[in-house]
Amino acid sequence: MGILKSQVVPKNSGAAFEVEKGRRLRIAGRSIVDFVAFNLRDLMERFDQARTKTNQAKIFISTGDILYSKRNNPMLTIVADTFKGGRHDLQKGMCSRKRFEMVAAGIAKRVFAEGVDLNPKRAEAIPDHGCWENLSTALQPWNIAPDDVPSPFNIFQCMRIDPDTGIMYDTMTRPQSEAYIDLRPEMDLLFAASACPESGRGQAIRVEIFDR
Ligand SMILES: [Zn+2]
Repeated sequence: MGILKSQVVPKNSGAAFEVEKGRRLRIAGRSIVDFVAFNLRDLMERFDQARTKTNQAKIFISTGDILYSKRNNPMLTIVADTFKGGRHDLQKGMCSRKRFEMVAAGIAKRVFAEGVDLNPKRAEAIPDHGCWENLSTALQPWNIAPDDVPSPFNIFQCMRIDPDTGIMYDTMTRPQSEAYIDLRPEMDLLFAASACPESGRGQAIRVEIFDR
């Protein structure tokens, strides 16, 4: 498996890449990565959280599972996943300046499983941008408008979901050491990854592309 590209994405920034069907891509890191994908030959076709969950009748995905587009076409297959201590998320959208402000003002919620509260409270503690801005900026060269960035596959974002109330709790569960998820594109793709700021805890991530 020869490496074609290896790029570090600094914390609270994003990057976008084109990749051909049949290659491999790896997302590696120790903190949350917001990941989206588009059909490179028709950028209107995008990753879809709901189709991905419904077609596989589950809300957690890992090795062997598929990321579907809104047209119900397989976009990527997960071929390896070394995050053994937790799960990836398919519920949440993206963090953004506005979301941070809404949480700080108490008009939107974000709850933590461990009873901690990492939400920024003071204006100066609120990041001026988040994953939405990171992905939108990274996708600008392909003329994808911010409103057209789909809700992502949130890699290394381990949520605990109460089965009765449906409450989504953020957890502090992250890879102990660098973990990775390998994906096989099932079509020629444009994809983008954001290194989530995670309220200041986010770290740089690494994106790699292999020839097969
Ligand atoms: Zn984020």
